[in-house]
Amino acid sequence: GAANVISPAEVVRDCLVLTRHQIATNGIVVETDMAADKNVLMARTELQQVLVNLILNAVHAMPEGGTLSLAVRDVTKGVKIEVADSGTGIAPETLRRIFDPFFTTKQAQGTGLGLSISQTLVRHAGGTLTASSVPGEGSLFTIFLPQTDPQ
Ligand code: ADP
Ligand code: MG
Repeated sequence: GAANVISPAEVVRDCLVLTRHQIATNGIVVETDMAADKNVLMARTELQQVLVNLILNAVHAMPEGGTLSLAVRDVTKGVKIEVADSGTGIAPETLRRIFDPFFTTKQAQGTGLGLSISQTLVRHAGGTLTASSVPGEGSLFTIFLPQTDPQ
């Protein structure tokens, strides 16, 4: 899609509205820290797709509830968006494969395409999407997007 000048914090808020039912039914508490002012250049619908993917993966990782933390911060030359959960976490041998197309550990409804497509969309906007995890404690997905103009 065509890139737009967008506020990542605004898009994060939109995505929390889009996913609020899945979040609420699963007994998940949401924490936000959105202190970013910088804008980025990315198709709004594509950043929405990435964030909804990350939020729904986080919800699936917390079947008995937990905390979903969303942070948007200005950093050097861009904006960092963090999506963290207090869910199952990801074993190291699995973590190496989660961005591979069609890799899924879900029995029924997993396509295994969410993270692969998300990483492609973020890279297309000149950014990065990375993951870290502590099994049994939770996972952290970090998006970096370059700012539109020097500030
Ligand atoms: P899908 O959700 O269809 O399985 P994804 O590409 O979105 O495909 O994710 C691939 C795999 O990465 C998942 O099946 C799961 O094993 C793992 N994963 C992704 N996000 C999380 C998370 N927040 N917590 C634990 N595991 C995760
Ligand atoms: Mg997914």
